[in-house]
Amino acid sequence: MACKCIDELPAKIMAHCNQQKEYQAKPVLDASFKDIVFPIINGEMFDALKADVLLIVDGRRTPKKTTMTFVYCPFCGVKYQEDV
Ligand SMILES: [Zn+2]
Repeated sequence: MACKCIDELPAKIMAHCNQQKEYQAKPVLDASFKDIVFPIINGEMFDALKADVLLIVDGRRTPKKTTMTFVYCPFCGVKYQEDV
């Protein structure tokens, strides 16, 4: 992994939430990213964030979902993997 955002940000988000009045009585106990994928490039697995994109397709009643995997960390801008 090129940066530590996926590992470190949930604790910072949890700490931020617990400073808010909303969580004073019942604090947040843990936090994690929901949309993490583990692509394997050249035999090496790494963490990357993904985003679901909803496609409105002509003639289709419900949106079609496709997934986009971030090549660069959306928080610090570091490229996840040089070979991607
Ligand atoms: Zn990062």
